[in-house]
Amino acid sequence: MLQGKVALEEHVVLPSLSAVGSAADSNDADYYADVRRRLVDSSLRLEGMDRFGIQTMVLSLSQPGVQGIPDRLLAVETARGLNDELAEVVAAHPGRFAGFAAVAVQDPMAAGDELERAVRQLGFRGALVNGFSNIGDVETAQYLDEPPVWDFWARVSALDVPVYLHPRDPLVGQRRIYEGYPALLSSAWGFGVETATHTLRLIMSGLFDRFPNLTIILGHLGEGLPFLLPRVEHRLRHARSDLRGQQARPLTSYLQSNFFLTTAGAFRSTALLDSLLEVGADRLLFSVDYPYENMQEQSEWFEAVPIAESDRRKIGYENAKRLLRL
Ligand code: ZN
Repeated sequence: MLQGKVALEEHVVLPSLSAVGSAADSNDADYYADVRRRLVDSSLRLEGMDRFGIQTMVLSLSQPGVQGIPDRLLAVETARGLNDELAEVVAAHPGRFAGFAAVAVQDPMAAGDELERAVRQLGFRGALVNGFSNIGDVETAQYLDEPPVWDFWARVSALDVPVYLHPRDPLVGQRRIYEGYPALLSSAWGFGVETATHTLRLIMSGLFDRFPNLTIILGHLGEGLPFLLPRVEHRLRHARSDLRGQQARPLTSYLQSNFFLTTAGAFRSTALLDSLLEVGADRLLFSVDYPYENMQEQSEWFEAVPIAESDRRKIGYENAKRLLRL
């Protein structure tokens, strides 16, 4: 088995915030009890990493994290406390764990300050943001392409660190289509739709033309975008010219210039091969999505994907080490 792997979508819960979205409502009780145990148990985590050739996990909070705190000040304070707690977990196992900061994008300037503190003082490798931020109440969303957030992106660009765009449950008012099928709301389906659409907003806002060095990491092999984005691009040709978006280049080109895609929660070789053909082996990263996914299943699948060994090493750890400066 390939040794020395780096995994980037690996979740924890911490004393200051242990919310894990809707998982408790829709998951099988035995599965969920095991997940809860593994979210907090570093020794179980390390045991699995040793067994399945994972040298380093970049840890982050489970969704919705601080994005789900409608009170701005409380979100800012919670992010700070969480990052201090995560820094302690990382420091206890140097070389094995690294951190993605929690940032309260509800207050873009404060989020920039906290990211800078987390990167410069705590040694974090970037941030993980769980989709839109609630502001004021649970029905109000601020998406990451919206004008106030560009102050945050200016700070990210200056720090030159990646931001992992992680899914969260869709807004409460946008769940009608899941009525009767609540198990589809989150990781089975709704996560991907929410995050892929959020990504389209980022591209079409012109964000990457304004800040060309921004790097976004998407899990789950790009949330379907390697397969779906070409059709979006194709159909937008016929949209009214004022509605085609602010982006300067074809939509698909941004996937190859501003995104890295991880294998978190992926287990389908044909999907990985499609992603490889769309973005190239330099922009794919191994990940598990532990403990929601299983290290053994992900590692054994990755081991068997029919790709060149040089590409397996790139995806397994070389790309991540370069991107995260490990
Ligand atoms: Zn995840």
